[in-house]
Amino acid sequence: MRFLFSIVFVLSLILSNSAYADRFADVQIESTELSPNLYMLTGAGGNMAALTGDDGIVLIDGQFAEMAGKIEAKLTELAAGQALQVLVNTHFHGDHVGGNAMLAADNRIIAHDNVRKRLQADSNFPAEGLPNLTFTDELTLHMNGHHILLTAMQPSHTDGDSIVWFKDSNVVHMGDLMFEGRFPFVDTNSGGNLHAYMEVTRHVIATIDADTQVIPGHGQLTNRAGLERELAMMEATLALVKQHKANGLSEQAIIERGLGDEWLDWHWNFITEERWIRTLYQALADE
Ligand SMILES: [Zn+2]
Repeated sequence: MRFLFSIVFVLSLILSNSAYADRFADVQIESTELSPNLYMLTGAGGNMAALTGDDGIVLIDGQFAEMAGKIEAKLTELAAGQALQVLVNTHFHGDHVGGNAMLAADNRIIAHDNVRKRLQADSNFPAEGLPNLTFTDELTLHMNGHHILLTAMQPSHTDGDSIVWFKDSNVVHMGDLMFEGRFPFVDTNSGGNLHAYMEVTRHVIATIDADTQVIPGHGQLTNRAGLERELAMMEATLALVKQHKANGLSEQAIIERGLGDEWLDWHWNFITEERWIRTLYQALADE
């Protein structure tokens, strides 16, 4: 019995100290007020936005289930006495929808049709966290004196991407159609397409003005200039890989050569330079 107890004790120590548990332990939810009652929230996973007011809180994306308690605490700190009414998912990736069931099982969860389809196909995803109001093209929420426009984009990052426009505050939440200052993830296994991703970036640049505050899916709060930098990087690196390919270099040879010093800062642990080159090379094959 004592031996068994020791095994359980050691096992529980191992589990509680696992990298997975540690990953969220020290992460805090930070808020930045972008305009009255509208906040950008950061923590672990995709950036969030929250609009508070008498109609209740609208939250854009919900990070991971492990972060739900901290997200709720932050919302209470920002708007004591107000309850979450609506959770919007910009797309289906786990670092944006993981908190759905914990945060909003009794509320409206809104997303593009394909977000629900993909999450429903995932047997590990809790049914109470599925989007219960879905749309194909666009949807406007009229809450807290704001018009919040959800616009579906052509398949770009995934096949269920939406951009969220807070028109009254001149703020846009890009979901993962913007990775600020780093190579973007184009999830081609889930309908993503680099050319469409670049097209959406051009569309948003043409739609907003120099004062628009842009919440990226990942990275720092940015603006039109930030989107232009991201687009310039995508165009330049795509042209470079295209030229190498035209000169007969294989994908592997281009990876060995690299993209040059100019783009080193865009490399990060998830989308490394190698992975970005593979994304570019695959996009050229699609042309
Ligand atoms: Zn994503």
